[in-house]
Amino acid sequence: MGQPPEDEERSGEGEPEDEAESWGNDAEGRTVDLEADADDLEFDYTLRPTSLNEMLGQDKVKEQLRIAIGAAKQRQEAMDHVLLYGPPGLGKTTLAHVIAHELDVEIHTTSGPVLERPSELAGILTNLGPRDVLFIDEIHRVVRVVEEYLYSAMEDYRIDIMIDQGPAARSITLPVEPFTLIGATTRQGLLTSPMRARFGLTGHLDYYTVEELSHIVSRDARLLDFSIDRDGALEVAKRSRGTARIAKRWLRRARDYGQVEGDGSVNVEIVKRALSMHKVDPLGLEETDRRLLAALIDKFDGGPVGLSNLAAVIGEEAETIEEVYEPYLIKESFMKRTPRGRQAMKRAYEHLGRSWPTDPDAGPDGQQLDLL
Ligand code: ADP
Repeated sequence: MGQPPEDEERSGEGEPEDEAESWGNDAEGRTVDLEADADDLEFDYTLRPTSLNEMLGQDKVKEQLRIAIGAAKQRQEAMDHVLLYGPPGLGKTTLAHVIAHELDVEIHTTSGPVLERPSELAGILTNLGPRDVLFIDEIHRVVRVVEEYLYSAMEDYRIDIMIDQGPAARSITLPVEPFTLIGATTRQGLLTSPMRARFGLTGHLDYYTVEELSHIVSRDARLLDFSIDRDGALEVAKRSRGTARIAKRWLRRARDYGQVEGDGSVNVEIVKRALSMHKVDPLGLEETDRRLLAALIDKFDGGPVGLSNLAAVIGEEAETIEEVYEPYLIKESFMKRTPRGRQAMKRAYEHLGRSWPTDPDAGPDGQQLDLL
């Protein structure tokens, strides 16, 4: 289970404005969008797995859950609270629905940024049926004042809320049915420790293998009633950054292409042509990934460079780079995080056709830092 790296210091010498401009804030190239879009959602209702057996991959987490679900059902108790963490698009929301389905209870969903006031949380909690699941997406973004109310709800199934103000102010205790909180987060490191401590189960969702993604893709094609051959499914899988949501999206683009330019079926050639139209390269990197790596190499001599400088140069939010782009690039050894910032690795030079410097650590950047 990987520990989330510490947030690095984001201050640093700002890049000159025109430099950032000259690299362009090319929004058109921004195709990695790990949030579900309307297209995703439309398909999701038909394709989302509803049981643990239907859900492919994530074996370790599923095994832990299978035991916890079985035990809770036998005892007719609410299952212990679960924290699911991992990059976007790997199946946290799906798994929360699967858990509720397997427990045979209702699921109520909300998200951290939506829960602004304790009264909103109180409203949701008091509406829960016995043993229901409450799913809070982006739980690391729940504000502190709401979080504190969650503690007593999770631990003692009650909330104490203040009513009225001034001298008439008093606290009343509202009972809550025993329930299971499922929290999802992309940033486990941002959860407070009292919050983390209240989860009985923690599941880390990891990137899918190519083989697993190819099965997910083939299953979707079957459910959507079109054919994709094994090589085609593997090609979609290879270009999907280990992420189920992306694999599903590229499958739909390949299906469109096959329908308009072919006979409706999808094979490896169709996948290649469809995805190169969307600027997805054979390793699954997209325009922004390549721009990020190119900036690291060409603008910062391979790094190390602070996240905020890198973000300014490619015209992306530092947070987006941190949450969306770099986890996969790091996992695939294109770049790494060091205490002094981001650094390009040999694979990035090779992939972008740049020559690998003999000793990248002895660059001028290191010397400058020492002087400063
Ligand atoms: P997250 O909540 O982690 O961002 P989601 O649960 O929304 O991810 O999953 C993204 C998409 O991928 C959804 O369409 C979901 O149905 C699909 N998906 C995720 N995991 C799997 C899986 N193991 N098998 C099949 N489809 C999956």
